[in-house]
Amino acid sequence: MGEDESSPDGIFELLQETDKKRRKITRSQLLETVKVKQFFDDGNITINERTCQGLECELCIKICPTNALYWRDGKVGIINDLCVYCGACVVACIVDDCIVVTRTREDGKVERFSKPTDVTKLFRTINSERRRKRLESLFPSREAYLSRFPLRTGKIIRKDEDKR
Ligand code: SF4
Ligand code: SF4
Repeated sequence: MGEDESSPDGIFELLQETDKKRRKITRSQLLETVKVKQFFDDGNITINERTCQGLECELCIKICPTNALYWRDGKVGIINDLCVYCGACVVACIVDDCIVVTRTREDGKVERFSKPTDVTKLFRTINSERRRKRLESLFPSREAYLSRFPLRTGKIIRKDEDKR
């Protein structure tokens, strides 16, 4: 901690840290009861009351794996400590940009989505990144790849040469 703890800034920082720790414990205990693992410590979810179709829909409430959403007083309520920022409600929602989910990965990368196409794009990016990393671990260099598949390259060259 950079600040002197006895200074107002230091005390504020300490309170924030304690609050964060307390919230983390509460979240873990709540999520333990619904047996859902959390992958993102930090995040946020909002629902636009003006565009929400409410009672005629409730799809987000039905699909949420942790029961973080509920219907009360004519609108969808959110229990923030139960939300794991999975995005299932965004995919299910019939109105684009009605539910907005923001989440932060361990490496500090922030992801934000508010419509099904955002989630599809995000998964595509994550999958291609995973494939790229796997390829890199298998073949750290071009030479490593070519040494694994030399015959295939050789055959193609020979065929082309045969045609001449
Ligand atoms: S992002 Fe939506 S579906 Fe996922 S846990 Fe949070 S409220 Fe539920
Ligand atoms: S799925 Fe979307 S439109 Fe339907 S109740 Fe939930 S927030 Fe409202």
